[in-house]
Amino acid sequence: MSAEPDRSGAWVERDKIESGHLVDAVNVTKSFGSNVVLQGVDCHVDRGEVVCLLGPSGSGKTTFLRLINQMETLTGGRIYVDGELVGFTERGGRLHARRPKDIARQRARIGMVFQRFNLFPHMTALENVTVAPRTVAGVDAATARREAMELLDRVGLADRAGYYPNELSGGQQQRVAIARALAMKPDLMLFDEPTSALDPELVGEVLGAMRALADQGMTMIVVTHEMGFAREVADRVIFMDGGAVVEDGPPEQVLGNPRHERTRAFIARVR
Ligand code: ADP
Repeated sequence: MSAEPDRSGAWVERDKIESGHLVDAVNVTKSFGSNVVLQGVDCHVDRGEVVCLLGPSGSGKTTFLRLINQMETLTGGRIYVDGELVGFTERGGRLHARRPKDIARQRARIGMVFQRFNLFPHMTALENVTVAPRTVAGVDAATARREAMELLDRVGLADRAGYYPNELSGGQQQRVAIARALAMKPDLMLFDEPTSALDPELVGEVLGAMRALADQGMTMIVVTHEMGFAREVADRVIFMDGGAVVEDGPPEQVLGNPRHERTRAFIARVR
């Protein structure tokens, strides 16, 4: 599908595919030194789909998200976003790098929300949301401000626009981080355990903002241990273990009637 032999018989990568999916991962491998973290991950995500990525700690979930967003380089295999090859890949046995300009363009289409809120501490909530549109996308100040206020309103924080991160609760900071990621109008949102650093009473407000985003049709890949969220919001659940996809299907199947013992054991542990 994604590679074909050229006239000399050597396999060449194709930069574009027409799979119809927003994300295609094909036989993705990743090693850190001798530590093989991903060993042949195949999966896809459709436009508008919410996919929850579950699995024990160390199973490679974060690494997979970071590969999609080109924060790590692939060891092997390919990832396509909207049919376009992203990141580094092997071609004829050699690492082939994309140009920085292409990486920046591709990254701008993906929003990422981390476990820790990663807001700029010296900027207000509003400034955190306007900074990328202003400096990366060249949006004028008035437009950036208006759009940022709309986003802060969407996450329920219009009245906190002038607050600095240290004046906000963890849940509020994480909602600002979501608004900030949305400011670049991404096609895809990646969430890496967005609630696991929060006090339990603050988890609901962040999941609520994510649920609203899902309802509005955003394509989302969410690494989470929040089973309720996965059950109620995900269109599909992917269970990973040991750097491989063990199970991939609708939540009622993967969570309600898992086929694999490893999935069953994991669900029993985190429930
Ligand atoms: P998960 O998100 O499922 O907990 P991770 O993707 O964070 O799993 O980690 C998978 C494995 O990759 C772990 O063994 C971790 O130590 C290793 N790893 C992740 N990032 C790095 C890195 N930058 N350098 C070396 N090893 C890493």
